[in-house]
Order: sequence, then structure tokens, then C-alpha cells
Amino acid sequence: MSEDFIIEEKSDDFYMQLALREAAKAYQAGEVPIGAVVVKDERVIARSWNQVETLKDATAHAEMLALTSAQSVVGDWRLEGCTIYVTKEPCPMCAGAIVHCRPDKVVFGVSDPKGGAAGGWINLLDSNPPLNHKCEVVRDVMKEECLSIIQQFFREARAKKKAARDTAKQECSKDCCDSEKDDSSVCLFSPFLCEHKFLDKALVIEQVTTATLRQ
Ligand code: ZN
Repeated sequence: MSEDFIIEEKSDDFYMQLALREAAKAYQAGEVPIGAVVVKDERVIARSWNQVETLKDATAHAEMLALTSAQSVVGDWRLEGCTIYVTKEPCPMCAGAIVHCRPDKVVFGVSDPKGGAAGGWINLLDSNPPLNHKCEVVRDVMKEECLSIIQQFFREARAKKKAARDTAKQECSKDCCDSEKDDSSVCLFSPFLCEHKFLDKALVIEQVTTATLRQ
């Protein structure tokens, strides 16, 4: 077997692989695929995946759920001696929660230059002046794999959206966009997906707005 396929047990790669399994569960559930595990004394004590849509909860990021679960296992809100592995750099909410829970170390896969709070955009885990806790941060662990699953998710989401739009256009052209029909007929399919109607509506809105401004 090639050495590329060997992952040393108890290494950062090993635990990130487990976090990636959690990300795969999110993917299967139609969630943005991010996963996290919490490790203490070389044992995984908590694991979770992003469940914002599933739980209808904007705070249900993988890290938040894993931290809550870890606190329950440890029986304390302090997660001293713990390391959290997460496939994407924590956002400000999760980084804030991490500071409050005080794990020793945060290991993440792919950086997030637009919203990451572990150095990608801002750094709450090693802030200056410091918050009440600093974490050791390790980045870029299995970053290609962590990025790949997110890119695949958004590629598929875009393709699904385009297919839905194309279908709506086709359905619409059989109905309201038929030139033989009265132009005022109501589009039974999403009027915002029908370019013909959408452009008409946009023109009307623009005309009304312009007329109002002139008054
Ligand atoms: Zn987050």
C-alpha cells in the first residue's frame, strides 16, 4: 500500500478524517458539509455535523453541537485538555463559544478568509488584547479533502437550482409565456423564475418608482 493512504492513528489527520465522516453525514442530509469531533486523552468524546437546516437553528453549527455534547460527557463546561477538530475554520460564533469552553487546541481543515475567526478573517482564538482564553491553533489539516466536499456540495446545489429554473421556464413557456395567450394571465409557476414575467414586473416597478420620484 502507498504511504499516501496510511493515516497514523491518534494523529491530527486521523481525527480530521473522523470529522470528515461527520461532514459526510451533513452532506447526505443536504446541509453544508462541515463536521467536528472533540478529543480528550486520545479518545473521541463528542462528534457532530452542521444541522442548521435540520434543526431550523442558525446556531446549530458542527462545532456548537460538538462542544455541547463534549461538555455533557465531561460533566463540566470547561473543556481543558480537549482538542476540537473541525473541517472548516470556525466562524465568530463558534470561535466565541470555543473561547468560553476553553479547550487547549483547535485544529481545522480549510481556512475561511471571508468569515473565519481563527486567523482567516479575524482571530478570536489568539486575540490581542486577549480574551480570557487562548487556544493553540493548527490549520490546513487535510485541507484538500475538507475543501473538496464543500465545493462538491455547492456545485451540486448550483446545478439543482439551475435545473429547477430551466424546468420552471419550460413549464412557464407552455402556459403564461405563450404569445397566443392573454399577456395578463397569471403565471402558475414561480413568477420570479419566469424571465418574461419577471422582466415585465421589473419594468412596471421601475416605471412606478420613477413616477413616484417625479411627484
Ligand atoms: Zn460556526
